[in-house]
Formats: sequence, C-alpha cells, structure tokens
Amino acid sequence: MTQLAPAFFADLRRALGDPAVDTSEETIARYGRNLLPGGDRRPAGVVYPASTADVQTIVRLANQYCMPLYSLSTGENSGLGLKSPTRSGCTIVDVGARMNRILEIDETLCFAEIEPGVTYQQMYDELGRRGHQLMLDTTSGPPTGGIVGNTLDKGAGYTPYFDHFGMSCGLEVVLGDGRLLRTADGALPGARTWHIAKYGYGPFLDGLFLQSNFGIVTRLGVWLMPRPPAIRTFFFLFPDDEDFAEIIDLVRPLKLNNVVPSLIKVTSDLYGLGTVATYPFARTGGRTPLPDEVRREMRREHDIGAWCVSGAFYGASDEALLPLLERLKMHFGRSGKARYVSHEEGHNSHILKIHSDTFSGRPTDSELGLLNWRPGGGACWFLPPMPMVGAIANQHQALSRRILREYGLEYITEYVCGPRMSRALHLMLFNRQDPQECQQVIACYRALMAAYAQAGYPVSRVPLDFQEEAMARLETFPAVCADLKRALDPNGILSPGRYGIE
Ligand SMILES: Cc1cc2nc3c(=O)[nH]c(=O)nc-3n(C[C@H](O)[C@H](O)[C@H](O)COP(=O)(O)OP(=O)(O)OC[C@H]3O[C@@H](n4cnc5c(N)ncnc54)[C@H](O)[C@@H]3O)c2cc1C
Repeated sequence: MTQLAPAFFADLRRALGDPAVDTSEETIARYGRNLLPGGDRRPAGVVYPASTADVQTIVRLANQYCMPLYSLSTGENSGLGLKSPTRSGCTIVDVGARMNRILEIDETLCFAEIEPGVTYQQMYDELGRRGHQLMLDTTSGPPTGGIVGNTLDKGAGYTPYFDHFGMSCGLEVVLGDGRLLRTADGALPGARTWHIAKYGYGPFLDGLFLQSNFGIVTRLGVWLMPRPPAIRTFFFLFPDDEDFAEIIDLVRPLKLNNVVPSLIKVTSDLYGLGTVATYPFARTGGRTPLPDEVRREMRREHDIGAWCVSGAFYGASDEALLPLLERLKMHFGRSGKARYVSHEEGHNSHILKIHSDTFSGRPTDSELGLLNWRPGGGACWFLPPMPMVGAIANQHQALSRRILREYGLEYITEYVCGPRMSRALHLMLFNRQDPQECQQVIACYRALMAAYAQAGYPVSRVPLDFQEEAMARLETFPAVCADLKRALDPNGILSPGRYGIE
C-alpha cells in the first residue's frame, strides 16, 4: 500500500460517502482470496461506485494519488482469479456491487442494456418474468457470475449465441485518464442504434477492452435470442479414451455445415464424474493421480463413457426436430461405438442435465461440484485452442495426459467444439492448503504452456498467476499493448499487469 493510501481513502469517502469505501480486514481478506496455486493477493481496500460518474471520480482520485485500481463486475472468475487483484495493494473497484441494473430490454429488436453487476441468474429471472420469450446464452459456471465480467474476459457459452463478445454491442467505458467513451454508434450523443449496430464509424475499439487494462466498463449492450418453442439436447457416449480422434472428425462436419446450431461439447469422463463424486482416496490407498483402472470402474458405476458428446437442436416443435435427431444418430452410428442417450434420459441424470441446461440458456450451479473433487478447493484453468482434426486431437490428449500425470493431476477436460477450433478447457483441481501441491500445479501449468507453445498453440484465457508469462511468449504484441496503455491510461492506474500489460 502506498503511503498516500489513507489520504486517498479519506478523499474517496468525502466524494462518495462513507459506505462506498471499505478497508476492513474481513473485506480485504475476502477480496484477496482466490483458488489459484500462487496464493491470495490482498487489496488495499474496496470501493463500491453507484454510477458512471462515481467511477470517473474514483479514477481521477487514483490518478491524483498514484493509487493502482483493479476493477471487477461480480468477481466469480473461479479458476482464473475470483475477486483477487493482479497485484496486492491495488484498490478494488467492485463496479457491479451497486451498479447492477438491467437498464433496458427491447423485446422487438431483442437486446438489453445492462450494468456490470447483472448476473446470469438475474437476467434469466427477468426474462422469465416476461414470459421466457427471449433467452440469454449462459456459462456452465456460477449463476451469480456476471455478463459484463464474463464478456470482458472473453468468456463463452454453448447456444447459437455462445460468443459473448460477438453477441455484445456497444460499451460505455471510463478510460484510465478519466474520460468517458461510448463505443461504436454510442459515440454520437443520443444515438438510437448503440446496441444494434456493432461496428459503428471508424476503427472498431470495443475489442480493446477485452482481457486488457485500458478502461473500466460501466455499461454493455447484449443481444438476446428469441427462445424457440422446442430445444432438444442429444448425447452420444463413447467407451474409450482413444475414441477422441474419431469423435472430433465426426463433429467437425456437423459444425462446418451448421447441421448442429449449438456448439458441441466433448466432455471427458472425469469432468462429468467430478460434478457428482470426490476423489476416491480410499480406493487408491491415498495415491494420486487417479489410476486408470479406478477411473474405468467409476465410469461403469455412473454409466458414462470415456467421452460424452452433447449438443442441441432448436425449432418449432419436438416433432420438427425428430428428423434432425435421426440424421445425427446415423452419423454417429457410423463409428459402431457411440451409445445414444435421449433428451429425456439426459434430463434424469445429474451429470448430463448440466448440458441440457446450458444449451437452453438456463444457469445451473451443478457443475460447481467439480470444485470439491480434491480437498482444499484449489482450481486453475488451462485453456489452449485445438484445431478440429482427429489426429491432432489425440496428440493433444496424449500430451496433456502425460504432463498432468507427471505432476500428480487428473485429465479433467471439456472440448467445446466449433467448426474449426475447439476450446480445450483443462481443469487443474488440487489441494490449495498443501504448499507442495501448489508448487506442483505451478510447475505443471508452466510445463503445459511451454509444451503447447512449442507445438504451436498459445493459451487464450489465463489465470492471474500466469498472465505475465503468457504475454512474454508473444512477439511485438506486448509492445503495441504497452503503447496503447500509455495512450489510454498514462499513469498506469488500471489493473497493472493484467494479461501482462504494463
Ligand atoms: C465449474 C465452472 C464452470 C465454468 N464454466 C464457464 C463457461 O462455461 N464459460 C465461461 O466463460 N466461464 C466459465 N467459468 C469461469 C467463470 O466462473 C465465469 O466465466 C464467470 O462468469 C466469470 O466471472 P465474473 O462474471 O464474475 O467476472 P468478473 O470476475 O467480474 O470479471 C472477470 C475479469 O474481467 C475484468 N473486469 C470485470 N469487470 C470489469 C469492468 N467493469 N471493467 C473492466 N474490467 C472488468 C476483471 O479483471 C475481472 O477479473 C466456469 C467456472 C467454473 C467454476
């Protein structure tokens, strides 16, 4: 904490009122806590703005006192940082705590304007109150997670509106120097097309505010999907780890030809099992990682395959979707190994229902069970992209399995497949109370990042602990980001070091 911190907080209290500032030990500890292996990062204090004008006041005072800020919307970024700032000693601007209103829902043009604190559950409930004519794509993460924070971190979901940034339109941002920017059409005072015309006039600036530290976002436009009368989820279970290559080759044409409009999830056995079971220490005699024979036993007990393929069709009625399902059964039937599980059967399975929920834009907390897989609650996400080519898929599987096993961790993955690329979500779950295990996870993440980079695959979303290392692997890009930072936040006040941008 800088020596000027007491004066900074006193000025903040004078400007925003006493309740808007909290420097209590309990709050500092709570906001500093995360699930990552590198340890907690305690902020200097937390400030709760109630308006965009408050955010501008906070940024101006922070510039005056050279006080670093770290902004968050709901702070539910599990496995990536939670509420923790990039660096200890930052003051957290919890933008969403009081700025949490749905400002507008336009049911004709199907968009909403929201403040940063609006959560997936809140939007689902509001759309439900209005009769569920519209739906918002959701994550499979915490329903209390926020739409703005997730979009700014390049989060994504599963329905045809899975690309959260792609389905956003028009930001309001307080820049590091205190100026207020409305992007795209919003730059024209009184513009009526801010949240429907994405690209606006001149350079497209919206992307600058994703995974960066150039501004604090105070409003966002998001597009809503008309909820179709029928949504049918399908599941195909495959028995063996090695089936992965064939699965990816079967999934690719379905997405390239847009036969299946949702993304297609290819979920590993333990990713599903971990939502309902904890690590069976008694069966392994306390040993980690999980031996393959125990893993096979567990999947027999829970009647799941080595891989579960899932996706959804959307249409006018269940009957209208039947021919599409029949076509899909024939497609996967070609493998001679796939077992079809219907929408109704899936609905009765805790493990599979998560997919029906997320393909229907229904927030669910069922997947959070994964955070209890190992005692001690450690979670760290590794997210490389994977080309949709079967041979490459099995190379990736072998690489990840080898490295994770070497460091005592399980291969707990979900591949979320588009036509050309899949997001390969690896969950590293570990005992965060065990310092030795934390060191193993740090070494493992570095080994994975190095091996994937050597094979030509960068990382996408990165936990706080590794953002600077990920940036250091890139060429020219870091210097250009640093130039932008100087232009938009000359005193380096906002989230210093976030995504490795200084
Ligand atoms: C089991 C499980 C499943 C998950 N599944 C998914 C999934 O399907 N898809 C997915 O994307 N994620 C998933 N996650 C990850 C994560 O929990 C969600 O993405 C979550 O919504 C992100 O947290 P948040 O919305 O609270 O964002 P926040 O924590 O509020 O924000 C994320 C980051 O963005 C920046 N930021 C936030 N608000 C602002 C602002 N107003 N101005 C400037 N910068 C800001 C901050 O640096 C912050 O750290 C999952 C997590 C778990 C545990």
